[in-house]
Amino acid sequence: MALDSKIPKGPIADKWTNYKNHINLVNPANKRNIDVIVIGTGLAGGSAAATLAELGYNVKAFCFQDSPRRAHSIAAQGGINAAKNYQGDGDSTYRLFYDTVKGGDYRSREANVYRLAEVSANIIDQCVAQGVPFAREYGGYLDNRSFGGVLVSRTFYAAGQTGQQLLLGAYSAMNRQIGRGKITMYNRHEMLDVVIVGGKARGIIARNLVTGEIERHSAHAVVLGSGGYGNVFYLSTNAMGSNVTAAWKAHKRGAYFANPCYTQIHPTCIPVSGDHQSKLTLMSESLRNDGRIWVPKNMDDVTAIRESKLKPADLPAENRDYFLERRYPAFGNLVPRDVASRAAKERCDAGYGVNKTGEAVYLDFATAIERYGKERAHVRGLNENDAVLVKKLGQEVIKEKYGNLFQMYEKIVDQDPYETPMMIYPAVHYTMGGLWVDYNLMTNVPGLYCIGEANFSDHGANRLGASALMQGLADGYFVLPYTIGDYLSNDIRTGKIPTNTPEFDEAEKNVTDNLNHLINNNGTHSVDYFHKRLGKIMWNKCGMSRNAEDLKSAIQEISELRAEFWKDVKVPGTQNEYNEELAKAGRVADFLELGELFAKDALQREESAGGHFREEYQTEEGEALRRPKFQYVSAWEYKGEPKDAVLHKEALEYENIEVKERSYK
Ligand SMILES: Cc1cc2nc3c(=O)[nH]c(=O)nc-3n(C[C@H](O)[C@H](O)[C@H](O)COP(=O)(O)OP(=O)(O)OC[C@H]3O[C@@H](n4cnc5c(N)ncnc54)[C@H](O)[C@@H]3O)c2cc1C
Repeated sequence: MALDSKIPKGPIADKWTNYKNHINLVNPANKRNIDVIVIGTGLAGGSAAATLAELGYNVKAFCFQDSPRRAHSIAAQGGINAAKNYQGDGDSTYRLFYDTVKGGDYRSREANVYRLAEVSANIIDQCVAQGVPFAREYGGYLDNRSFGGVLVSRTFYAAGQTGQQLLLGAYSAMNRQIGRGKITMYNRHEMLDVVIVGGKARGIIARNLVTGEIERHSAHAVVLGSGGYGNVFYLSTNAMGSNVTAAWKAHKRGAYFANPCYTQIHPTCIPVSGDHQSKLTLMSESLRNDGRIWVPKNMDDVTAIRESKLKPADLPAENRDYFLERRYPAFGNLVPRDVASRAAKERCDAGYGVNKTGEAVYLDFATAIERYGKERAHVRGLNENDAVLVKKLGQEVIKEKYGNLFQMYEKIVDQDPYETPMMIYPAVHYTMGGLWVDYNLMTNVPGLYCIGEANFSDHGANRLGASALMQGLADGYFVLPYTIGDYLSNDIRTGKIPTNTPEFDEAEKNVTDNLNHLINNNGTHSVDYFHKRLGKIMWNKCGMSRNAEDLKSAIQEISELRAEFWKDVKVPGTQNEYNEELAKAGRVADFLELGELFAKDALQREESAGGHFREEYQTEEGEALRRPKFQYVSAWEYKGEPKDAVLHKEALEYENIEVKERSYK
């Protein structure tokens, strides 16, 4: 099948405006006759459901949590990007577009990204109007901070709880429509199949997670805003419930999956502490505005620190290697996430990791505490040379900026990050891959849309910080509500879609057979047992460093593990009750299929991209070369305009990687 991205013709800056001027519309009276199913109530699904209902469509919204408010989006900490240029530091739609494409290693779809940058400013206005309490400066203006990979401050934030506040905004907008009867909300419902009628998505099969009842729901279009699948790695910063099931079921019904192996590895997460762990915790990227990343320069100091004979705070600055500042002086600690992650791994692989497992680097706030303390002492007319006072004042500033993150760190690690540097290590955080969509955000299955983290289009091989919230809300508030109308304009005379048809019968049987198998299997091992094993294969063989040999064996191992799962998994309880293990079993079954596709995709990409090294074991002196053979960059980047584009080239040259040019459309 040839995929048509349906990108409008014309200059990139005019595409979206021209598109909106020429699409088909559905008049308000006809919208009342059209039903839309929205799976997911995170920032993407929640904003889409609220806006479609506001426009007049009848919306059925689904989430597996007990409330839309508990979608994983609530976890987002650091902020949301928008090209408002409030700081007057040279930002523009073009710069946000450019940074996002470059940040994605030139593998995102540029037309979508330009549109994203264009509507980013509207998102902030929309959210402010909803009452989202973005941080403000003393004078009342909205405040901004900086995130990795950019040279401007364009990130809007609400302390370390930006996702929560944005989600409350979307949730309020949804609630208004629930109150009007325009959204019917199905909490604790899990979509387990999509129903295709006459080649079009016309409904879903869902399971009521409280009663176990299997339900049929029809609509003229189905929108998936079901989030990312980082939990295929078992350990990730994602919410425990995040899963691939909705997207995977759509894939099995014919929707293409794009870039499944592109995973964002976030550089600042609390390191893994042992085998008992089921979750990893993010320390927001915003911390890299003030935290400096380092490891000791000398191996003796590494050993002394690991053996608790030396406190990191006592190591003199000249004996520290601030490796990001050293390698990337223009961006320093605020390089993109993939670059920071790879650099931290490189230092740890070379033996400089600072914790017992050797997989941690420091994120140190001492310099910022001193700088802020002096500034505050100066402002208040106090003694700037009083070290104790300066430290206290500086710590106050840091607490105002990042207090909740510092508290979280202390609770988990039992160390006070105001006094000793945090320990951090890269971890799985976000999945750039997802269902393939065209410019309309429609998959290759007519009437089946995909938005937010669940689709593939905007972030290429790496996502810059604060760009996922922007994409989710852009898709839901400003893009899908236009594009879906063009498709639905053909459905104004269709009438209600019946659910008593062979297509619904077949899909429901498919779901019930699956559940019956799982519940009656009576094996010997828990769902987590298999999930953990899958996670280990994924991290060790399909994680940051990849090579053909390991990827081939991962494909084999995952396939064997899947067979073992179906033979030997034990799911307690019954089907007709609230049964979390049963729900989890279905999700892990899908991860076990996705994992294989993931590894196959990684195997076929003979490149390093984003946070992934492609190692090749071609050696001259019998030694393994721990670096990628080559990396593609686009011709556009390589010509080096504007100037900051050289960052990537610098990074590649440092790693002594051959650069291949490729023009990217
Ligand atoms: C710890 C953390 C911090 C982050 N911080 C930031 C940040 O500061 N800035 C930023 O831009 N990004 C951040 N991100 C990324 C960002 O939070 C997510 O990418 C984004 O929130 C995803 O939104 P979404 O609406 O696509 O999906 P989600 O918020 O994951 O929502 C998915 C929805 O789909 C529903 N669902 C899923 N499957 C089914 C099913 N089968 N049936 C029914 N319902 C289903 C769920 O119930 C849920 O309502 C962070 C991510 C993490 C892990």
